[in-house]
Amino acid sequence: MYTLMDIAPTIAEIIGITFPARDGTPIPRVVMKLSRCKRLLLLIIDGLGFRIYKRYQHYLKPTEGITLRCRPTMMHTTPAIATILTGMHPDHHRVFTAKDTERSASLSIIEHASAQGVTSAIIMEEKGARCFKEDVITIGIDDNDYDDNDAVRAVIEVSKRADFITAHLRVLDRAYHQKREPERAIKTLSQHIREITTQVEDTGILICGDHPPHHLKNDDIPLIAIRNNCGLEGI
Ligand SMILES: [Zn+2]
Repeated sequence: MYTLMDIAPTIAEIIGITFPARDGTPIPRVVMKLSRCKRLLLLIIDGLGFRIYKRYQHYLKPTEGITLRCRPTMMHTTPAIATILTGMHPDHHRVFTAKDTERSASLSIIEHASAQGVTSAIIMEEKGARCFKEDVITIGIDDNDYDDNDAVRAVIEVSKRADFITAHLRVLDRAYHQKREPERAIKTLSQHIREITTQVEDTGILICGDHPPHHLKNDDIPLIAIRNNCGLEGI
C-alpha cells in the first residue's frame, strides 16, 4: 500500500533532484506518467478522502491518468501537509502545529528543489507560507478569508515563472466544517482543476488529499496523476 510519505520522494524523481532518504519511497508508475512534463503542480485538497473521491468520481476521476490509494498519516492538516512535503512520518518530522513549522529543520521537497535550481512556489495560508526557507516563491493567502479562487489565480500566474508549484485548496474541508453536503465543493474543485489544466502548459499534475474527512478515521487518500492535456470526468 502506498502512503502519503511516498509523495515527496516521487516528486524528487519526477523533477530530477536529489532528496535525502525519507520514510517514503518513489512510486514508479507516477514517475513514469509525469516525468517528461516541463512543469509539476502539486494540488493538496484539504479533507479529500478516498470514499468521497469514489462517491464523486464522476467529477474527479481522470479521463486519462492514474488514481492510487494511499494511507494517511494523521487526521490533521498541519502534520499531514508536513508529511506530504517532507516524505517523513509525523514521529520523524515532529511538525504538529504552526509553531513547529517555524522551528522545523526537515527541509521540504519545495526547499530542496529550490536549492537545486528548480524555480519553486508555494501557495497556502500566510503563516505557513512564510516558513519556507531557500529561494521559494511564497504566495500567502489570509487564513480567515481563504478562497480557492485566489489560490487558483495564483497557480496560473506563477506557472509562467515556476517549474514546481504546490497549492493548498480548502473548499472541501470548509464544506465539512459548515456541515454542508460536499457535492458543491467537489464541483467547484473539479472546475478549478479544469481551469488550471486548460491554462497551464506542458504540466504534470498531482492531486492528493491531506487527510480523510474527520469523521472517517479509517479512510484512505486518493493520489491522482494527470497531464494537463487531459481532463477529469464530468467537467
Ligand atoms: Zn486538512
